[in-house]
Amino acid sequence: MSGPLEPSPLDPAPLDPSPLDPAPLDPAALEQARDQALAAFAAAASLDELAAARTAHSGDRSTVAQARKAIGGLPGPEKADAGKRVNVVLAAVNGAYDARRVVLEDERDARVLVEEAVDVTVLPPRAVGGRHPLTTISERVADVFVAMGWELAEGPEVEHEWFNFDALNFGGDHPAREMQDTLFVEPAGSGLVLRTHTSPVQVRSMLDRELPVYVVCPGRVYRADALDATHSPVFAQVEGLCVDEGITMAHLRGTLDHLATAMFGDGTRTRIRPNYFPFTEPSAEMDLQCFQCRGASAEPGGEPCRVCSSEGWIEWGGCGMVNPAVLQAAGIDPERYSGFAFGMGLDRTLMFRHGITDIRDFYEGDQRFTLALGQEA
Ligand SMILES: [Zn+2]
Repeated sequence: MSGPLEPSPLDPAPLDPSPLDPAPLDPAALEQARDQALAAFAAAASLDELAAARTAHSGDRSTVAQARKAIGGLPGPEKADAGKRVNVVLAAVNGAYDARRVVLEDERDARVLVEEAVDVTVLPPRAVGGRHPLTTISERVADVFVAMGWELAEGPEVEHEWFNFDALNFGGDHPAREMQDTLFVEPAGSGLVLRTHTSPVQVRSMLDRELPVYVVCPGRVYRADALDATHSPVFAQVEGLCVDEGITMAHLRGTLDHLATAMFGDGTRTRIRPNYFPFTEPSAEMDLQCFQCRGASAEPGGEPCRVCSSEGWIEWGGCGMVNPAVLQAAGIDPERYSGFAFGMGLDRTLMFRHGITDIRDFYEGDQRFTLALGQEA
């Protein structure tokens, strides 16, 4: 910190008289030493420079220190006079040093306060994240079923073809097995696909668990679709499976109505329409009564409804009684046991629930979307 012209603590003092030399007691020499000390202290720009100046001008080898030593060699009367003179100079030097030190310490403290200041009122640099709406709705659906005593089941997203197709009664020539629908895992013939639905978790659950089986399986699924406003190569489904003795379609209807009520409010109904899936027999499409107009828009003279396009119903998913061939593939006796299964898209559920028109919003990671929907999905 010392300037190039400032004395270093290691430099010899400017004057180095012998202890018995009376010269340091010369009043002019003392005044000069005092003035030099005061000038050096005033010029010190830092505490380090001030310490160096003090060593040079009032240290052991300084004129002032030498003068004090020299007093002892003087005769009595002169000793008293010289002592007073030296003490006056010493007091001036020490006083100047103390005053300058106080000034420099204050400057240093003020500088440290500024340089090392922490503004505790500054907000964190980024907003706190939110849970993704697909995560939130998956857990809401799972909670509805867990409350009825069902179990949560999960399975791998990279799945064996056998679990994804064969065990679910898809024939070897079923069109879903073709490249334009399914994402196969390299190398060709690996027998692995990115699961095209959550239904393989049904098969795994039947193989893994003791009967009866009541499981709900939310998860990501993959299709060889191009990304546009209504299609995504990855989307989220939830699937439910129950296998027990004496299960009928009445249990399926009651379960679906309970889910619709839990998700969309009291009185929300579902309906089923005949359809075909390889893994259920009979199979059905499942529609949700429009939660906006409650079907009124489809009545004569009803107000138009944008949510259901005035159909009164919204397609929600597929369902049916578990095909006996699927039970057999899992080693379950279809003469004794029966079951139902259903599945629906969670993206789709959120889209009509919140009027979202572009499925890409779920996968582009815009935090504003996540924060707006994640808490109320
Ligand atoms: Zn409607």
